[in-house]
Amino acid sequence: MPKKIPMRSCTGCGEKKEKSSLIRVIRTPEGTVKLDPTGRAPGRGTYLCPNPDCLQKARKKHALSRSLGVEIPKETLDLLETELRNMSGGANGT
Ligand SMILES: [Zn+2]
Repeated sequence: MPKKIPMRSCTGCGEKKEKSSLIRVIRTPEGTVKLDPTGRAPGRGTYLCPNPDCLQKARKKHALSRSLGVEIPKETLDLLETELRNMSGGANGT
């Protein structure tokens, strides 16, 4: 019997995907928001495609701060976007 694959929705585009193909974004107990590439860090989490476009969609809808229940400063969102870009293969010129 095939193992049941855990599915999660992307906070940006809303598509359901395998949990392992999404990037977890967490709010740490300290209240900062960051990517959790291990998927195992403690804290409240939500999921995004490893795609900066989805982060931008989530930003526009304020979906990340809503699902994490915390205000996310612009600087943090910019940082997350940079990290996502790096993860998605650095297909961003230099
Ligand atoms: Zn997405």
